[in-house]
Amino acid sequence: MILLVEDEAIARHAFAQILRSHRHEVIEAADGVDALKLLDKYAVDLVITDLVMPGLDGFALVTRIRQKLPAVPIVIISGYTAQFAAPALNEATEFLPKPIDPPVLIATVQRLLAQSPKLYRRKQQSEVWHFCGTCSQWPGEDYVEQRHMPSTSEVCNECTVKWRTQPA
Ligand SMILES: [Zn+2]
Repeated sequence: MILLVEDEAIARHAFAQILRSHRHEVIEAADGVDALKLLDKYAVDLVITDLVMPGLDGFALVTRIRQKLPAVPIVIISGYTAQFAAPALNEATEFLPKPIDPPVLIATVQRLLAQSPKLYRRKQQSEVWHFCGTCSQWPGEDYVEQRHMPSTSEVCNECTVKWRTQPA
């Protein structure tokens, strides 16, 4: 699921439609406050956010997202320059200048989702999540896969190190 944060409704609807036409599930927020509420409620795989918004802007939102979800890919979209966006780019994953080129948007989203970390755990047997296959407690065949880690879940020590240092 993609969280799209953009205060201009016409632009937001246009971006959402592009994403949905490529079968991505999209939830929309008009500002950072709405976005944080949705992040608490839904398992979000990727965030696309504008920078200049009323209330909680994109710069503050990116910082808040990194505290909650260290590994979720964040794409900044802005009509301003990359230089203006620079403070957010330290923590974000990509920058796309507006006007947005639909094929570039789709290609970026597909690539980031494919690279996005996955968490696994044994069905029913354990509440401990694992990030990668090198972990000593790596689950066998009987696992479930998720891209989003519920805040109440544990990740084993070996996996936590890798999880915290993502994305590369
Ligand atoms: Zn592990």
